[in-house]
Amino acid sequence: MTRVGFYPGSFDPVTNGHVDIITRGACLFDELVLGVGVHHGKTPFIPVDQRVDLLNSIIGPISAATGVKIRVETFDDLAVDAATRIGAVAILRGLRDTRDFDYEVQMGQMNAQMQPKVETVFLSASPQTRMIASSLVKQIARMGGDVSSFLPPESLKIVTNAVKNQS
Ligand code: ADP
Repeated sequence: MTRVGFYPGSFDPVTNGHVDIITRGACLFDELVLGVGVHHGKTPFIPVDQRVDLLNSIIGPISAATGVKIRVETFDDLAVDAATRIGAVAILRGLRDTRDFDYEVQMGQMNAQMQPKVETVFLSASPQTRMIASSLVKQIARMGGDVSSFLPPESLKIVTNAVKNQS
């Protein structure tokens, strides 16, 4: 049996925190699918096709290092439905603090009620990346701050361009 994991998120933008969860989470599964959530009607900071390209450029080395197949998909329905559709045994999520814990555990339990076959697996954030949040990266970047230590280099380029284009 191939154990597929599903890591859904906005990835807007992709941060070193996401990379931490992808790298450590990949080791738990035979295959990991990254799900980029598309919310119709909400304008993202980074367009969805760029987020998909960015994740695709990041996963190559992680896949090579872990030996785990990793691929990227978009989804516009419930994460639990997307996970079921791709045949995932578990949804992977990261926990940074008690706010994440309260929200993620509640969501995990509601998902379990809707689809008991899909588990939720939580990884606690690594100390080096625990403080990173996409929302704060966006705010800092928009105000001209240095976000280079929070982002993979590929993501930094895209964020820098997005700030230029949107100002
Ligand atoms: P969403 O809108 O689904 O919360 P995000 O891209 O903000 O999308 O987050 C996706 C997942 O990654 C969530 O489980 C979140 O807790 C986790 N995550 C985000 N940043 C970090 C980080 N710095 N360390 C660990 N996990 C993180």
